[in-house]
Amino acid sequence: MENILSLCKRRGFIYPSSEIYGGIGGFYDYGPMGCELKRNIRDAWWQDVVHRRRDVVGMDGTIIMHPSVWKASGHVDGFSDPMVDCRESKMRYRADQLFFSPVVIGGKIIGYVSKLEDEGNGKRPDEMAEKIKNKHGLSGKIEPMKWQCYADAAEEIQRLIPSPATGNAGTLTPPRAFNLMFETHVGAVRDDASVAYLRPETAQGIFVNFKNILDTSRKKIPFGIAQIGRSFRNEITPRNFIFRSREFEQMELEYFISPHADWQKLHSEWVEERLQWHRSIGIRGELLGLAVHSAQKLAHYSRACTDITFRYPFGEQELEGIAARGDYDLSQHQSASGKSLEYFDEESGERCLAHVIEPSVGVDRIFLAVLCSAYEEDEVDGERRMVLHLHPRIAPIKAAILPLVKNKPEIVSLAEDIYRQLQRHWNVAYDASGAIGRRYRRMDEVGTPFAVTVDFESIENETVTVRERSSMEQIRLHRRELSAFLMEKISGI
Ligand code: ATP
Repeated sequence: MENILSLCKRRGFIYPSSEIYGGIGGFYDYGPMGCELKRNIRDAWWQDVVHRRRDVVGMDGTIIMHPSVWKASGHVDGFSDPMVDCRESKMRYRADQLFFSPVVIGGKIIGYVSKLEDEGNGKRPDEMAEKIKNKHGLSGKIEPMKWQCYADAAEEIQRLIPSPATGNAGTLTPPRAFNLMFETHVGAVRDDASVAYLRPETAQGIFVNFKNILDTSRKKIPFGIAQIGRSFRNEITPRNFIFRSREFEQMELEYFISPHADWQKLHSEWVEERLQWHRSIGIRGELLGLAVHSAQKLAHYSRACTDITFRYPFGEQELEGIAARGDYDLSQHQSASGKSLEYFDEESGERCLAHVIEPSVGVDRIFLAVLCSAYEEDEVDGERRMVLHLHPRIAPIKAAILPLVKNKPEIVSLAEDIYRQLQRHWNVAYDASGAIGRRYRRMDEVGTPFAVTVDFESIENETVTVRERSSMEQIRLHRRELSAFLMEKISGI
């Protein structure tokens, strides 16, 4: 993770937002390389989920919607996380990410230790346990920790659990609900009636437009509506870089199906399809996994939910969620708005509410999974090389055009001409400064899959050398073959 953070800063992928003012927790800016990579991830999703399917259309809704949307969806009353405060350090934790274990010697509980999710079974809890043991003047062996969630602890036990910040017990509050939606006001008057919310997900914009799109797009159930856009959550503990931030981007699909359809089969097909997609853009298969939500973990309106997980350096975490949500959202909006959201089901000859399968993923979480999959340090000619093995489809720069020397006008002019030719289709770079090996290294670091070198032979016969970043193999192509070559590598066409 350290390496990835440092690469992101050094090569212009990601910076902390408002950095010159000390940053603002949970917000990040994407620099020249980052915004290209992010855009390519979005485009790949849109191409595969919308353009390459006959049964999906797109939409682009507003971030601020009528506040009744969030009342009906259940977000005003229920979109909250259990928050725990440490009165001493003023630190805040999510109760479901805070864990505790009794410290047991010879079958007797002598105290408690705590840790945060994804901090592993590290040194601190062990040190805390040793301290408790010494305080009691005991010498036996501490039994293995048995971690439980703070949210599940009885109140009298909560008082005995030490704060992870200070190690002192008695300073943590009981969990209380904290709504994650950011509030704002619409219009000139700031009162309760003008309260509005920044959307915490893009999905509700799709549900409230379901009828508009059904009536105007000539699509019939089953069909899907896709949307990409910013979402905002006032996360209690934003952390792990862009994995959990307060402003992020979601790509969500609501796939509407008949209430009589075999939803379990359709749900499994979407899980498989989405897993394949993550592999197709270069996320390493061996780091991907599936986590099926147990009946207890499911939201009350959800029939099934499977997460696609990724093994990030800080632990295995949700990358994408694929939920079967029944007709919960449409029926909520239908009863709250008083407008019928039913459609005519030709098979059963009745008017029904569509059910929905929802694959929902965060662009930023894919971004991080892509970087973790692509990062490698190897050795070339006895020198350490840092390389990003990005799939050509999502690489920020598709090719670098490198004139071998910059003092031979014919070479420079041919290189510039090739640069202009490729620039019409892709984001390509032109780099004339430094030794050729140095220029290759700079491009390897940002994951540019191809380097096109224009040399002395090029002026004779218009051929160039194309070096592939990962294998470092070189081939000779005529400049007229370059576009077709790159097209095949980038788009598979
Ligand atoms: P988590 O349990 O990790 O908070 P969630 O289950 O609340 O996530 P969903 O509401 O299902 O997440 O959101 C769908 C997707 O949006 C997630 O799979 C994730 O990729 C992305 N996402 C959610 N919250 C964040 C966040 N704070 N920062 C970045 N991406 C997020």
